[in-house]
Amino acid sequence: MKAEIIAVGTELLLGQIVNTNAQFLSQGLAGLGIDVYFQTVVGDNAQRLRQAIEVARTRADFILFTGGIGPTQDDLTKDTLADYLGRQLLIHEPSMSKIEHFFSSRGSHMVESNRRQANMIEGSVPLANETGLAVGNAIVQDGTLYALLPGPPREMKPMFNGPLRQWLIDVSGQHNLLYSRILRFAGIGESSLEAELIDIIDGQTDPTVAPYAKEGEVVIRVSTKAGSAVEALGKIDRTVALIRERVGQYMYAEEDIPLEEAVLRKLRDKRLKLSCAESCSGGLLSELITSVPGSSGEFLGSIVTYTNTMKHKLLGIPLSQLEGPGAPGAISESTAQLMAQRVNELTGSDWGIAITGVAGPTESEGKPVGLVYIALARRGGETTVHSMKWSGNRSSVRIRSAKTALYRLWE
Ligand code: ATP
Ligand code: MG
Repeated sequence: MKAEIIAVGTELLLGQIVNTNAQFLSQGLAGLGIDVYFQTVVGDNAQRLRQAIEVARTRADFILFTGGIGPTQDDLTKDTLADYLGRQLLIHEPSMSKIEHFFSSRGSHMVESNRRQANMIEGSVPLANETGLAVGNAIVQDGTLYALLPGPPREMKPMFNGPLRQWLIDVSGQHNLLYSRILRFAGIGESSLEAELIDIIDGQTDPTVAPYAKEGEVVIRVSTKAGSAVEALGKIDRTVALIRERVGQYMYAEEDIPLEEAVLRKLRDKRLKLSCAESCSGGLLSELITSVPGSSGEFLGSIVTYTNTMKHKLLGIPLSQLEGPGAPGAISESTAQLMAQRVNELTGSDWGIAITGVAGPTESEGKPVGLVYIALARRGGETTVHSMKWSGNRSSVRIRSAKTALYRLWE
C-alpha cells in the first residue's frame, strides 16, 4: 500500500508551526508496514486542497489528511473531500450529543459552527476523538483509502493509534493487504525489550517488528503485507517464534489484551479467587481488574487502606507494626506481607495481593519516593514480597506497581 500524507493548514505554509504531524504519521505508518511515498502541505483553501487530492489520487492508495476538521470557516477538509468524492456531509449523532453535552456541562453557549465538528462524509466510518470534539472520518472509494484526522497533535495521535489503526487493519484484511499480530509483554520495560530484540527490529523488513508502550506495558506489532492470510500467518509465525525464543518469559499474550485480562483468564482456568489490599496504589489495581468484563467471577474485592489507622482498623495490622520507635512502618516488607495475608483471610480468597510504598512526590517515613513493596499471599501457602525501586513520577509509580503486582501473579 502506498500512502500520501496531506497536512492542511495555512500556518504550516507560513512557517508559523512545524509539521510534526507528518513526522508522527510517517513513523506510525512505517510501523504498520505502509510505505509513505509523499508528504504534501496545503493551505486552508478549498481549490488548492482539491488539487492536492487529485494529484495524490494518481499516486497513492491511501490518502491521510491531518488538520482542518475543526469548527471554524477555514476548516475545510471534510467539505472538500466530500465534494471531491461526490458525497453528502451528514451529522454523526453520537458526536453531536457529545459536543452539546460538552457545552451544556460547562454552562457555555454553543455557537452553530461547533456542529460542523460532528460532520461525517456519507458512507464513512467515524473515528472517535478521545481528546477533542471533532470526529475523524475514514472511507474507501474506488479502491483508494481516505482518512481525516484533526490537526492538534494531542487529538491526532490517539486517533491514529486507536481507531484509525484498527480501521486500517480491518480494511486491509478485507482487501488482503496488511496482516498483523499484537504481542503483549509485562515485567520488562520498553528499552530493555528493544535492546533484546534490536537486531530483529532493525534487520527485519518483512514482517516489520514495531515495539511501543501502551498503558504501562510494552506491545509489539508484527505486520506483513501478503497476498493471502495463509501466507501472512506463516511469515508472522516465524518472526513470533524468533521473538519468543529471546523474551518469551515476558510475553503474556499473542493478542491485544491487557495484563489484567490475561491474569483473570488464568485464575478462571484454575478456579482461583483474588483479593487486594492497597495503600499507595489507592485502588488502581482494583480499577484495572474490574475494568475487565466478567471480573466478578475471580475478583472478590479490595480494601484500600491509606492511613495507618485504616490499616489497623480494617486489616487488623497491629499499630506497633506501623508506627512508633523501631516499628517497621507502613512501607515495609513485613507490612506488605501482613496486608496480603489479612485480606486473604478476610475475603477467603486464594490469592491476596498487597501494595504499599511511596508514590511521591515527597518521601514518607524517611523512605524514598518510588520504594514499593508488593506482596502475594497464597492461601495455606507462602507469602512472597517483591521490593521495587521505581524512578518516575507519582502516576508512573502507581501504574507500574499495579502492573507489576499483576505480572507477579501471572508468572
Ligand atoms: P481545531 O479544532 O483546533 O480547529 P483542526 O482539525 O481544524 O482543529 P487545524 O485548525 O488545522 O486543525 O489546526 C489546529 C492546530 O493544530 C494548529 O494551530 C496547530 O497548533 C496544530 N496543528 C495542525 N496541523 C499540524 C501539523 N501538521 N503539525 C503539527 N501541529 C499541527
Ligand atoms: Mg481548525
